[in-house]
Amino acid sequence: MIDFIPYGKQTIDEDDINSVIEVLKSPFLTTGPKIEEFEKKLANYCNVNYCIAVTNGTAALHLASMVLLNKNDKVLTTPNSFLATSNSILYVKAKPIFVDIYEDGNINLDLCEEELKKDSTIKAIYVVHFSGKAVNQEKLKYLKDRYNIKILEDCAHSLGANFGNIKAGSSTNSDCSILSFHPVKHITTGEGGAITTNSKELYEKLLELRAHGMQRRVDIAPWYYEMNSLGFNYRITDIACALGISQLKKIDNFIEKRKNIAKNYDKAFLNSIVKPLYNFDKDSSYHLYVVRVDFSKLNITKIKLFNKMKEKNIGLQLHYIPINKQPFYKNLGYGKENTPIMDRYYEECFSLPMYPTLTIEEQEYVIKNLLELLND
Ligand SMILES: *Cc1c(COP(=O)(O)O)cnc(C)c1O
Repeated sequence: MIDFIPYGKQTIDEDDINSVIEVLKSPFLTTGPKIEEFEKKLANYCNVNYCIAVTNGTAALHLASMVLLNKNDKVLTTPNSFLATSNSILYVKAKPIFVDIYEDGNINLDLCEEELKKDSTIKAIYVVHFSGKAVNQEKLKYLKDRYNIKILEDCAHSLGANFGNIKAGSSTNSDCSILSFHPVKHITTGEGGAITTNSKELYEKLLELRAHGMQRRVDIAPWYYEMNSLGFNYRITDIACALGISQLKKIDNFIEKRKNIAKNYDKAFLNSIVKPLYNFDKDSSYHLYVVRVDFSKLNITKIKLFNKMKEKNIGLQLHYIPINKQPFYKNLGYGKENTPIMDRYYEECFSLPMYPTLTIEEQEYVIKNLLELLND
């Protein structure tokens, strides 16, 4: 039988392995030259002024929230994301407000505007470019300017994505963006993340918060350091950054492959009961390939489909369970928001295998089994 096909996985080659071994033999395992090199290369790739690499995407969100938000600030955000996006708002004792999505899985920016009109105390919007498809950047810019709010772009799905000539992670119309280098994302460092921004002021605060809120002051004495804020140890290692530098060289190729896989799926599902989340988008970086199926009309349930596909060695995944419906959030009073699009989306959606090394044969095997099970 065919080897297990997960919904996502890393692509590691000999160059990646050698770049890590090189660091292991060098004087610095952490906080050496590879961190800055990785940050510079990421900033260059994202077309942004500053980049701070950290231990993971969640740490990036935490630090970004520390510099953007104050206690009790209201923040509009999406229920269709990984938990970390809105958790980071709670970390700093601010208040997420969940807004419904568009049919393409992204936060509905028109509804965000309605909320902003109703409540002038809303301070920020946290958007996620879901699956790699960028939210409308013109609308984002309009909201930022018109309502004078902070904007964070969660680009964990969208490294390498574009909106017209605006690159994801460039923070062109936002205060900052965050990235994740978890193995299922576009490039990996094992665990890793980064924040990008064009603001020197934010950059300097973030640098300090990454390392205990501490600043070296050799101008005062050779040993002297000063603590001005309560930071964390969110430093990433040189080992991880060497892997990141090596991975980043290959990102355009990775994304090209993801796009080809998306095109093949699109073609296979034409005129079938499987509906791709959106028509082919050349600007999407296709972190995920999400489809929708109206199970109410079928003999098979979604649970059964997942189990049957697993028996065939195919891993499906679901992105996402609405965050506001999680028990922890319900205990905080969430879960009763009016989000009909998200609710129906959750009933219908699931994600198919999508990663650069997925072969044509494997993809055809996934498609064949999926259509057979759904048509039974
Ligand atoms: C992966 C992910 C994160 C968190 O990143 P980690 O590196 O796993 O901490 C945050 N937001 C979104 C949308 C993600 O997909």
